[in-house]
Amino acid sequence: MTASATGSARFLIVGPQGSGKGTQGVLVAEAFGVPAISTGDVFRENISGGTELGSRVQAIVEAGDLVPDELTCELVRDRLAQPDAARGFLLDGFPRNRAQVADLEEFLAGRGEALDAVIELSVPRDESISRLRQRAIDQGRTDDTEQVIANRLAIYERETAPILDEYRGKGLVVQVDGVGSLDEVTERIFDALADRGLNVTGNGGNGAAA
Ligand code: ADP
Repeated sequence: MTASATGSARFLIVGPQGSGKGTQGVLVAEAFGVPAISTGDVFRENISGGTELGSRVQAIVEAGDLVPDELTCELVRDRLAQPDAARGFLLDGFPRNRAQVADLEEFLAGRGEALDAVIELSVPRDESISRLRQRAIDQGRTDDTEQVIANRLAIYERETAPILDEYRGKGLVVQVDGVGSLDEVTERIFDALADRGLNVTGNGGNGAAA
C-alpha cells in the first residue's frame, strides 16, 4: 500500500503512555508507505545492543526522565535525513517538549518541508494507567514500574500535552478517541485523516479506512 504519489505524509502521533500510539503509529506509517520512527524504540535498541548511545541514556530511560534534547534532536535529524524519510515519516514519541518542537520545525523548514498532521490519541488517565500495568505484566519493560509510570505520565502532562496546543493553533491536530478496540481506533484515525484530505491510495487502498 502506498500514499498518493503527489502527497507528502509527514505525521506525528502524540498521546499519553499507554494510549496505543506505538501500535497505531506503525499501522498508519505502513499504510502511507513511510517509516515509523519511535525515539523510545531507538533508545531501547541501543540499550539492549550495548552501544555507546545506549550506555549514555540507560539510566535516564529507566527512570522515565527525558533524554537531553540535544542528543534526541540530533538523533531525529539524522534519521529524518535518511532517503526513506524523504516523502514522509511518522514520528512516535518525538517531539516531547517545546524545545523539540522548535528543533523539528527548524529542521523541516530548512528543507522546505512541513508537517501534514499531528494525530492526537486521547485516552483518560485511568485507562492509560491500567493499560501500562498490563503491559508491565506482558512485556516486562523496565520503565513500567509504578513509580516510573507515574513519572512518565507527569512529564507527559507537564511538557508534552502543551505542545498539542501549539499544533492546534496551526490547525494541524487530528484528535482521535483512543478508547476502543485496536481496529476501531485504527479506523477512526484513517477516517479523521481522510477528512483532512490525507488519503491512502494505490494498490488495494487501505482496508482499515472506511
Ligand atoms: P512511553 O511513551 O511509553 O514513555 P517511549 O518508548 O516513547 O515510551 O519512550 C521511552 C523513554 O525513552 C522515555 O521515557 C524517555 O526516557 C526516552 N525518550 C523517548 N523519546 C524521547 C524524546 N523525544 N525526548 C527525550 N526522551 C525520550
